[in-house]
Amino acid sequence: MEDCHRRFLQNMMLRGIVNQQEAKALQQHCCEVHKQKYEADKLEEFIEVINSQLVSMYMKIRSGASEDDATQYYALVNTANTEITRMSPDYTASELELFKRTLDLIMHSDSGTASSTDILNSANSLQTRKLAKSAAEGMLHRLVKDGWMVEKRGEYSLSTRCIIDMEPYIRTTYEEEQLKLCSVCHGLAFKCQTCSNPLCTVKVHHPCAERFFRRMPVRKCPGCSEPWPHDIPEGRPSGSKQRQR
Ligand SMILES: [Zn+2]
Ligand SMILES: [Zn+2]
Repeated sequence: MEDCHRRFLQNMMLRGIVNQQEAKALQQHCCEVHKQKYEADKLEEFIEVINSQLVSMYMKIRSGASEDDATQYYALVNTANTEITRMSPDYTASELELFKRTLDLIMHSDSGTASSTDILNSANSLQTRKLAKSAAEGMLHRLVKDGWMVEKRGEYSLSTRCIIDMEPYIRTTYEEEQLKLCSVCHGLAFKCQTCSNPLCTVKVHHPCAERFFRRMPVRKCPGCSEPWPHDIPEGRPSGSKQRQR
């Protein structure tokens, strides 16, 4: 690992998550500052050098795509434990329990979201310690501010950073039949299109649906071959991507 890699890692520690474009710019900057060779098409290899040093510290720069627009992100994650306590010491035990309840609500919803009403209701029945409504609201506010959740009109969903970070935890905590996986990219799918055949479990992320169905003259479910009942989202031209983490 050279100085350019160290500088990249220091930046990742400050920022937590960057999109691919930002990662490339950061790689270039770090190489230029330390007068080391910058290879534009070698971002993955560059990150691999850093990751090989991070293994012993139970950390990793892991990549993942946004569920909204498929933008590729890189997040610095903790690989030490697959417990929800990975988010501490920033959160108290009852706050972590509330986050776990929120995750349960999201896992069981079709939309991949949980309403603030449902989350605040569950704050009343925590086993660790009841959280007052104002404390629970404060906690939700912090989760958004810290980049773990995204809020839109009172509905909360997991941020891209949270999904990248929590994927191993979610895959080990929930039963296989509770996990929703995208049939195209095989990643966890929270906000996605679902086959309307009640016997079929196929789910597809919106950007994956755009890629998968775009050139298909007759859209059929990749699992059961029934007609696909959803509109296919328009691909967004690159450059106009929303920055939502
Ligand atoms: Zn997908
Ligand atoms: Zn189907």
